[in-house]
Amino acid sequence: MTLIDKFGRPITDLRISITDRCNYKCVYCRTGNEGALYGDLTFSNYLRMARVLVGSGITKIRITGGEPLLRNGVVEFVRQLSKLRLQGLLDIAITTNGHLLAEMAQPLKDAGLNRVTVSMDAVDPDRFARITRIPNGYDHVLAGIRAARRAGLWPVKVNCVLMRGFNEDQIIPFGMFAREEGVIVRFIEFMPLEEDRVWAPETVVTLEEILRRMSEYRALVEIAHGRSETARRYRFDDGIGEIGIIAPVSHPFCGQCSRIRITSDGKIRTCLFSVWDHDLYELMQRGASDHELAEFIGSVVQRKEERHHIGEPDFVRASRTMVHIGG
Ligand code: SAM
Repeated sequence: MTLIDKFGRPITDLRISITDRCNYKCVYCRTGNEGALYGDLTFSNYLRMARVLVGSGITKIRITGGEPLLRNGVVEFVRQLSKLRLQGLLDIAITTNGHLLAEMAQPLKDAGLNRVTVSMDAVDPDRFARITRIPNGYDHVLAGIRAARRAGLWPVKVNCVLMRGFNEDQIIPFGMFAREEGVIVRFIEFMPLEEDRVWAPETVVTLEEILRRMSEYRALVEIAHGRSETARRYRFDDGIGEIGIIAPVSHPFCGQCSRIRITSDGKIRTCLFSVWDHDLYELMQRGASDHELAEFIGSVVQRKEERHHIGEPDFVRASRTMVHIGG
């Protein structure tokens, strides 16, 4: 069985946010203050949602947040998710800021995690602190990335959101980092999903600029990428090191979008830029059967937006910011 939306896109990729709390306050995501939270559900609720969705054709689950590793019980949650593989093919990944990863990488791998993506926006400790607004985080994250590699959570991807005035000069250092550390570094264009409302077209460091700057260091060769893969992929001309560029602003990939999201409070979101969400948890609370949940999910998928409207006159901000959606 496969979920297919009204534009013919197969929906195979689920992101579950297990908390909207975060221990970092990255400038492109949060304000410097603690904000209000939507809250979390018990893991048994997320597990039931995941089971129904896998039964409906989901083949990839990414656990996200907030910061998912803040949540006690996440290793056991991965172990329980792994059992859904009995229903069919299932790839399980986590996106984390990496602060707590050094101790958790091996237990997560043992529990059945396939892959990890670590967010890291500078390869310089001072710059890292300026962006995350957290002192001394850099060493923790670097240790987390290395532990993930040792644990075999392969390939380790490192996501770097570029925001003009903060880290565009980190592009070449990240190219070197990818080669030295054996990780895939992926640059992400800054999207208007932040709490501080600082996004403007000029703050976006585009795919073209990233390629131009990186080519001043070493020539890049484009590699073929999968249909629903968000990143354009490149390797360096000597074959050592890979980078990716996720360019939702300058080169939208909505036509290939295969994702839906569940927020930490149990709402389905069909697009990062949705102006509404769909309350799956409330339906569960009302005693719906698995079959009824699957029917609801099927109808929600039909309402998935065709595309985002970033940069257009009719653009309307999403009804939640990134930390409360789960990127
Ligand atoms: N705390 C985890 C982490 O740091 O990876 C998971 C949640 S975080 C919201 C997920 C991803 O969204 C991270 O890679 C982060 O860099 C990215 N992100 C957050 N705000 C963004 C924005 N305004 N534009 C683009 N990416 C953003």
